Amino acid sequence: MSTNCLFCKIIAGEIPATKIYEDDKSLAFLDINPVNPGHTLVIPKNHSENLEEISEEDLCDLIKSVKRVGGAIKESLSPNGYNVGLNNGSGSGQIVPHIHFHVIPRKEGDGHKLWSQGKYEEEEAEEVASQIKAKL
Ligand code: 5GP
Ligand code: ZN
Repeated sequence: MSTNCLFCKIIAGEIPATKIYEDDKSLAFLDINPVNPGHTLVIPKNHSENLEEISEEDLCDLIKSVKRVGGAIKESLSPNGYNVGLNNGSGSGQIVPHIHFHVIPRKEGDGHKLWSQGKYEEEEAEEVASQIKAKL
């Protein structure tokens, strides 16, 4: 547990949350400001800030819980689909520094957009791809 972490406090029961699912390794609860009703956050019980920090083992347990919660949302709320999202780092919109997957039930025409998309300049895609590949 990280002492000043909001989500660690939810895990410890120090801050209330509407819990959906819990096991030894993970916890799922409703987002307090949902995109749509049923918007759920799935978090590991071991505090990790982001994808760089979390162990592969904890991540495997976490994504299994995401799959389970997503399936339950699909069966119970009958959305047309659901988004699974991870804001990783402040520049991506991560506000709470305890890694969490958003599971967001969606309906066609609900008015929510994903992200805007652009185009590559000539040779830009190859250049960006080689920068990334060099670190793999
Ligand atoms: P982030 O932007 O870090 O990916 O998402 C953080 C999410 O946590 C936001 O969607 C926000 O609504 C949610 N959140 C922030 N504080 C609380 C809280 O105290 N309780 C719950 N249930 N959700 C919270
Ligand atoms: Zn934490």
